[in-house]
Amino acid sequence: MASKFDFKKQKIAIDDSFVPFDRAQLHIASSAVLYGLSVYTVFAVNKTNRGMAVFRLKDHYQRLIESAHIMGIDSFVAKWDFDHFSATVLNLIDTNNIDTDVFIRATVHVTELVPGTRSRGLNTVLSMFIYEAMSILPKSGARLKTSVWRRIPDYAIPARAKVNGAYVNSVLGKQDAIDSGYDDCIFLDVAGHVCELSAANIFLIRNGVLITPDTTSDILEGINRKTIMEYAKAEGIPVQERTVDLTELYIADEIFACGTSAYVTPILQVDARDINGGKTGPITKLIAKIHFATLHGTHNADSDYLTLV
Ligand code: PMP
Repeated sequence: MASKFDFKKQKIAIDDSFVPFDRAQLHIASSAVLYGLSVYTVFAVNKTNRGMAVFRLKDHYQRLIESAHIMGIDSFVAKWDFDHFSATVLNLIDTNNIDTDVFIRATVHVTELVPGTRSRGLNTVLSMFIYEAMSILPKSGARLKTSVWRRIPDYAIPARAKVNGAYVNSVLGKQDAIDSGYDDCIFLDVAGHVCELSAANIFLIRNGVLITPDTTSDILEGINRKTIMEYAKAEGIPVQERTVDLTELYIADEIFACGTSAYVTPILQVDARDINGGKTGPITKLIAKIHFATLHGTHNADSDYLTLV
């Protein structure tokens, strides 16, 4: 059982140094603070019978690189190749003697002081901190509300890039949902199609087919989303990535959300309409079971998803 995990007692990686929690600071005049000009990712580190294991580390590194590339934050890739990044992650886990399920948040901050609204050729720092693995949604099932806020479109702020400043869109959507008595929101794009939750991707099941908004639907290209489509293919469940209408959710046989900090969470209600009579459906149960076992190294033990510490 996980004992109480105090993230404030952990050492934090700041580039190549490990520093006490209180010493990990950014200047108020940095672009990271002034404009939210940072890109990040969050990945899971889980306890397995072969020791602690990081889930899909290379994919997380790759998405971080792509987010930085979209934003023109070019000094990150110049300083951090995958081997360097991965060694630092493993070192951080080791330094903190982690022996329980945790998340690591890795952020590339633009630390340059008052350069104005630009991104190229500026100083960056990579930080990584560890915190307790906790779901952002109720594990037994969540109730969702269509957001009054639309998802940020690719032509304004790309949802595909995991940019810190862009998360004010998620904050607006999530708070609106909570204020209305729901657990989270469903974002629609400017044309009214379904995108995702505030910090998780969405799948629905109709007539045995697993359906999810495609990668041009203003979504973050979730690493768990990709993984779940791989499970479905292995289980012989047909998958469709396509534009999704809101009303398809209302009449879906099952819906679930997925993400590093959403795991696989059944969605039991959307806009006051029960899904599957308010009960978790069989495909959701199967996918959730496979995912938990994969994260903890008991499903497909040879899988290259896991990096052992
Ligand atoms: N969408 C958004 C907006 C998110 O913040 C997240 C969490 N990173 C996800 C989807 C799920 O992504 P992943 O599976 O890579 O955690």
